[in-house]
Amino acid sequence: MKQIKGMQLGAVLAATLLLFVVFASMPASAYNAPGPRWAGTSTVYGWDWWGSIPSDWKPAIRNAASAWNSAGSVFRFNEDYWTANVYKASLGSAGPLARTYGSAPNYVILNVNTTFNSDVPWSTTGESGKNDVQNTATHEFGHWLILAHVTGSGDTEKTMYQYADTGETKKRTLEQDDKDGIIHIYG
Ligand SMILES: [Zn+2]
Repeated sequence: MKQIKGMQLGAVLAATLLLFVVFASMPASAYNAPGPRWAGTSTVYGWDWWGSIPSDWKPAIRNAASAWNSAGSVFRFNEDYWTANVYKASLGSAGPLARTYGSAPNYVILNVNTTFNSDVPWSTTGESGKNDVQNTATHEFGHWLILAHVTGSGDTEKTMYQYADTGETKKRTLEQDDKDGIIHIYG
């Protein structure tokens, strides 16, 4: 199994929020909401100008956003072609599947972006031996909210579980604890 995102977000947030690291190391819980959040109840996501995200990935990423939009929270992800928040770029063959990176001074998110690792194999259909785009995107959008990892042995079915296998698609579907996480933060 490979870590989806690992400590990159933790490292970023640790610069502005030391509590993230403390919370991230706690035992299993229903969800992990370390504190930072968007000031409002929506954000936009979009594509980089140089077209690193393949066109056939976009439905998968839209579906990932829709999963959170249907979680029972008022929060909404809205697609906006004039922003550049999702990229595909090299993170190294030993790197994470994807990295969500941003800044949240004083617990308020200013910006977030996600990079899918171009050095690992991808599929939009859950093919064995490849990493599923929607599976990963749903997890990364959880980080946009800011939900952190759940790591317990009872957390393996949750979208915010920190590891994913190739061919895995179960993170496409939010578990109740994932839904409770976004509702906890945004109502
Ligand atoms: Zn993650």
